[in-house]
Amino acid sequence: MIQEKGTISVSTDNIFPIIKKFLYSDHEIFLRELVSNAVDASQKLSKLASLGEFNGELGDLKITITINEKAKTITISDNGIGMTADEVKKYINQIAFSGATEFLEKYKDKLDGKEIIGHFGLGFYSAFMVSQKVELITKSYRDNAEPVQWVCEGSTEFELAPTIKKTRGTDVVLHIASDSEEFLDKNRIRGILEKYGKFLPIPIEFEEKIINNPKPLWTKSPAELTDEDYIAFYKELHPFAPDPLFWIHLNVDYPFNLTGVLYFPKLRNDFEVQKNKIQLYSRQVFITDEVKDVVPEFMLLLHGVIDSPDIPLNVSRSYLQSDSNVKKINTHITKKVADKLSEMFKKDRKEFEAKWEDIGIFVKYGALSDDKFYEKAKEYILVKNTDQKYFTLDEYKEHIQALQTTKDNQLVGLYTSDPGKQNTYIVSAKNKNYDVLLLNTLIDNHFISFLESKVEKFQLKRVDSDSIDRLIDKGEKIDSVLSDKEKEKLKKIIEKAIQKENTTIQVESLSPNEFPLLITLPEFIRRMKDMSSHGPMSMGSFPIEPVITVNANHALIRQILQQNNEEQQKKYIQQLYDLGLLSQNGLEGQALTAFIERSIEWMGEKK
Ligand code: ADP
Repeated sequence: MIQEKGTISVSTDNIFPIIKKFLYSDHEIFLRELVSNAVDASQKLSKLASLGEFNGELGDLKITITINEKAKTITISDNGIGMTADEVKKYINQIAFSGATEFLEKYKDKLDGKEIIGHFGLGFYSAFMVSQKVELITKSYRDNAEPVQWVCEGSTEFELAPTIKKTRGTDVVLHIASDSEEFLDKNRIRGILEKYGKFLPIPIEFEEKIINNPKPLWTKSPAELTDEDYIAFYKELHPFAPDPLFWIHLNVDYPFNLTGVLYFPKLRNDFEVQKNKIQLYSRQVFITDEVKDVVPEFMLLLHGVIDSPDIPLNVSRSYLQSDSNVKKINTHITKKVADKLSEMFKKDRKEFEAKWEDIGIFVKYGALSDDKFYEKAKEYILVKNTDQKYFTLDEYKEHIQALQTTKDNQLVGLYTSDPGKQNTYIVSAKNKNYDVLLLNTLIDNHFISFLESKVEKFQLKRVDSDSIDRLIDKGEKIDSVLSDKEKEKLKKIIEKAIQKENTTIQVESLSPNEFPLLITLPEFIRRMKDMSSHGPMSMGSFPIEPVITVNANHALIRQILQQNNEEQQKKYIQQLYDLGLLSQNGLEGQALTAFIERSIEWMGEKK
């Protein structure tokens, strides 16, 4: 052929300023695009060889990246399929831009560069983000192919000429522009290669070292992998993380393509730090680790890799969310994870329970945020009681049925959010043979209301939210020892002694075994309060004073009522009130000091 000059067929005058402008923030992806092209060229050749359409020597397929600091060039070389002059004209010169001009005109200000690249096959042209001149020297795999050189200096003009190249494949030589010289730095290039190319399927050589693992674990068949392999790969992804609890190998080829491995990490309470640990690949090319549009929100707690050529990688968020493949992938992953958990639960309950501490947070989060997930998970959602025994929801309902059903046929579950602080109340519940659940993780606040909404005729109450008889109201009437008149008198005495405004004081006939005075915060009010401290809702002047319940049937209360010395009477009541506060961890400051002094003085009196 003879030397040829021509114009790249683009309908806009000059696309390069557009490329530069749009891709401003993301210049480093030029390398991802060019290395991906080299990978494609290599894979195409091995495909042809396997089809018997290429009978030459395949050799070791490899991609080499070299920096020449003096000449200020970066070269990406492959020994793949190469191109003939005609192919260069067809694939490189005629940028597939039908409709693209219109598109660009319309969205000029709204798009970011990622959307254009890939969408219109601008991959190769991303070279101009960092180059003032690009040379492409290529020789096709075909017999007697003539090597050609294509040169373009960033305008729509190009030159195409015969050249000398002995070996098959393509060299892309980037003459780095003065504003992009940062890319001549070895460390920078190594960093970019490791970021995007760590698992590319063809060996990538940089500075005489292969930087990638061309056959990463997720591309292999689960049958040929051991637990050690999975753990080793996890360590490769997350060198400092503790061993994962378990994993799920994804492998779908219909109706969409998806492979990958999702690991279940040991969860710590710090959710935010844990997120964004899933990497998204497309045919082993790293795309992003922000997968929140591709996997359900609660799955972001998982770690690992997903690889799908069917996820549109270069389009906008809102588009991704409405993409039907993405939706299917979402559903598939949710189902897989739910099924895996079910399988583990059925296979080894003890083992499942041992892991529940970690799994539980995730499952609860999943149940809260995705109804389909809950529908599957409800058979293995576990609750643990203060005796460290685990129950499924159905088992638990049965467990408490006999003793914890109210007169209105409501099942009442009791729980503690802090067994240490709520010990007094737990002990009262246990004395009645009631069961107490441990619901003390970050997510339980939400999970409690969720369970109530899902499980019919079921309510949860914190053990310290009322007197034990009223927590589970079975309609058993307890006879009152005091007359109504005496109760009225007692109430007055107590109001006077305690002198707290906005506080409800109730005189009730509880069982004589219950404490003489109880201080409780009703379940409903406490939940409102918790919500306002976690959310935007302000309690304003909402009264959150606890309720004081005096047990008129307690012997001590009767004694107090009969006491003639008003000072003594007041002292007793204060002491009982302070004890009530103490059991709620609410005694502090001057009141605490007064309580201690009063107690010591009293001991002195009782010789
Ligand atoms: P895309 O890769 O999306 O098709 P590109 O602009 O990156 O768009 O490349 C256009 C075409 O040029 C490719 O489809 C391929 O046919 C050809 N090409 C690019 N780089 C190479 C290469 N290193 N070896 C062989 N062919 C290549």
